[in-house]
Amino acid sequence: MQPRILVIEDETEIANYLRRGLVFEGFEVQIANDGHAGLAAAREHPPDLVVLDLMLPGIDGLEVARRLRAVSDVPIIILTARDAVPDRVAGLESGADDYLVKPFAFAELLARIRVQLRRRQSERQPAVLRYATLTMDTAAREVRNGERRVELTAREYELLELFMRNPQQVLTREVIYDRVWGYDFGGESNIIEVYIRYLRQKLEANGEPRLLHTVRGVGYILREE
Ligand code: CA
Repeated sequence: MQPRILVIEDETEIANYLRRGLVFEGFEVQIANDGHAGLAAAREHPPDLVVLDLMLPGIDGLEVARRLRAVSDVPIIILTARDAVPDRVAGLESGADDYLVKPFAFAELLARIRVQLRRRQSERQPAVLRYATLTMDTAAREVRNGERRVELTAREYELLELFMRNPQQVLTREVIYDRVWGYDFGGESNIIEVYIRYLRQKLEANGEPRLLHTVRGVGYILREE
């Protein structure tokens, strides 16, 4: 199911620009042109994420954020033209999860949206993931292979978490790049190979059997041989 994004923005040009970009990226998008319409839309069809402009006619964005937050834990990303620290603080205190200062690059918004959706999704999933001899405690961010504790960097952890959440499925290099690095696949980069090698070295440090396998020409898979 495609994530639903509610965009609350009164400037038609920006709203349309966001709609086109987000639909192209596979999201379901609803636009509301003011705060009242936004709150009503959120009630009728609860979105998975809200992109909220601060400067709105009627009820302003901060108040919309407070009212949304009062009834739901939906991630809220604020757009603000006012690049002032007090506004940012007020935005986050109102319950927003992140903010972007206008003008912003669409790719930046997209990256922030993906971070928020991923965070929300992992909060809803079980705290301890297990596959074969691997255990990943996502609350403590602790990984073990058997009894042995495996120390991972943040990026290595994210990469392994993607496999732990999708065991016995081939993950293409494009999917891995998009989900772990959060932007479009560059094509030439060997960064995934490098990180897979790090992970294998750490997971197999005591001669444990290989669990991360290469699927030649396609990607990688977490499975028992
Ligand atoms: Ca506005």
